[in-house]
Amino acid sequence: MQILHVASEVAPFAKVGGLADVVMGLSRELTAEGHDVHVLIPSYQCIEKKQLIPEGKLEKFTTELDGRALNASVRYMRFDNVPILLLDTDQEYWGQLSAIYAEDVERFTFFCRAVTDWLKVTDLSPDVIHVHDWPTALLPVLAPAQGYKGGRFVFTMHNFEFQGQCQWDDLERVGLKAQEIEETSLLQDPHKRCLNLVKGGLLTADRVTTVSPTYAKEVMTPEFGFGLEDVLVGIKDKFSGILNGIDHSYWDPQNDEYLSERYSASQGHEKVCMAKMRNKKELFSDLDIPLRKGIPLLSSVTRLVPQKGIWLLHDLFSQAEQLDFQVLLLGSLASPEAQKSFESLDLMLRKKGRGAVLFGSDERCAHRIFAASDMFVAPSLFEPCGLTQLISLRYGTVPIVRKTGGFADTVVDVLASEDSNGFSFSQPDPLLLQKSVVRALEWYGDGERWRSLIMRGKRQDFSWRHSVGGYMKLYKSIV
Ligand code: ADP
Repeated sequence: MQILHVASEVAPFAKVGGLADVVMGLSRELTAEGHDVHVLIPSYQCIEKKQLIPEGKLEKFTTELDGRALNASVRYMRFDNVPILLLDTDQEYWGQLSAIYAEDVERFTFFCRAVTDWLKVTDLSPDVIHVHDWPTALLPVLAPAQGYKGGRFVFTMHNFEFQGQCQWDDLERVGLKAQEIEETSLLQDPHKRCLNLVKGGLLTADRVTTVSPTYAKEVMTPEFGFGLEDVLVGIKDKFSGILNGIDHSYWDPQNDEYLSERYSASQGHEKVCMAKMRNKKELFSDLDIPLRKGIPLLSSVTRLVPQKGIWLLHDLFSQAEQLDFQVLLLGSLASPEAQKSFESLDLMLRKKGRGAVLFGSDERCAHRIFAASDMFVAPSLFEPCGLTQLISLRYGTVPIVRKTGGFADTVVDVLASEDSNGFSFSQPDPLLLQKSVVRALEWYGDGERWRSLIMRGKRQDFSWRHSVGGYMKLYKSIV
C-alpha cells in the first residue's frame, strides 16, 4: 500500500514534541513491513540537511498565495529506510519549528495549499494520505475542493488543545472560498465566531483517530474535548483511539549513541542497575552537581506548559529536601512566568545540592536523563498518549503519572495489579502526587521489590510493532 504522511514535524531532525516521534516511528514500522511510505514536511531552514540522504529527485510545481503564483518544489530525501519529502516555496516561510504549538495558521494553511498543488502533479499516487494535528487538518477539506481525486484521508489528532482557529480571510489567501464548500458550516467553530481547521478535518477525513483509547473516550466529554466533544460524538463511528508506540531502534538503552554505559533487560537486574548508576554519576559530574549516594533521582523531560502539570511538578520538586530525593528537570518552551519560577527552583535545588532544572530542548540530555533516573514524574492535566512514560519503562526508570489518557492505558499502579509497572494518582492535586511519590520512595527502599518493578517495566513491549496493526486495519478498511 502507498501511504503518504503529511505533518509539521518528524523526528529526529524536525522535532518539537511527541508528534515528531510518532510520525517517524509509525513510518519506519510501516516501511519495514513492506509498505511504500513517504513523509512530507516543510523544508525548515533549521533541518540539518546532512542528516538526510538525497535521493536525487526534485518535483517542481506552481502554487498560489494571495492570488500570486509561486514556484515550489518537493525534494526527495531519505532518513534511514524512511523516504522524507521536503516541500519548499519561493515564499520564505519555512524558518524555525518552535512556533508550531502557537496557532501559526498563516504558514500551515499555505503549506496545505502547496501540498494540494503538488498532489495534483506528483508521480506518487498514495492510497492513503495520513494527516496529523491542526497544521495539516485543512488538507482533507482543501484538496478535494480544489479538484484532487486521489487517495483517502486519515486524520490523527495528537492533542485537541490546538485547533487552528482562523477566519475566512486566512483561507481566501490560499484560494479557498466559502462558496466552494458544500456545507458552509463545515469549518465553523462550534462555540466561537471563527473557523476551526480541526473541525473541518474531523468532518471530511475518511477516518479519524487519536493516540490512545482512553483519550478517545475522554475527548468526547466537555472536560477534555476543548469544545469539539459534540462533533466527536457525532463522528464516533469513524473515530477511534490507537495507542502510540515508541521506536525501539531509537529508544534503545542497549544501542543508545548518547550513553556511555549501555544496558539491556537480558543482562539481568544487577547489570541494569549498575549501568544506570554509572550513567547517573557521569551525568551529574558533567553537570557539576553533587551526587548523593543511596538517594533516588526523580526526573522529568517535558515541554514546560500547563498541560504537563508543571505547577504540580514545581510543588513536588520544591520538596526534594523534605522528601529526600534528587531532581533533574529538562524543560522547553516555558512561558516567561514559568521560566521565572523554574529558574528560582533551579537556584534552590543547586544551592541545596539536590539537582537542577535545565532549560531548552536537548535530545542528548533527554536520553541521558531517561537512563540515569530512578523515577520519572509526569503529572499531566491531560495526556493524549505520552511517550515519556514508555521511554522511561524501556530505560528501567519507574513512571509516576496522573491517571489520564494514554498514561491510564500504559502505567499500572503497584496497588492495582501484580503486573504493575509504576505509580499513578487520579486528580491533579499536589497532595495526591506527593502521596504517590511517598509510596514510590517506600518501594525504592525495598531493593528486591524495586528491582522487580524496574525489570517488569523494562520487559514490556510498547514498540510500534504492536500499534502499527491498528493503523493497517484502518487503512485497509477505506482503500
Ligand atoms: P508532547 O508531544 O505533548 O510534548 P510526548 O510525551 O508525547 O509529549 O512526547 C514528548 C517527546 O519530546 C519525547 O520524545 C521527549 O523525550 C521529548 N521532549 C520533551 N521535552 C523535551 C526537552 N525539553 N528536550 C528534549 N526532548 C524533549
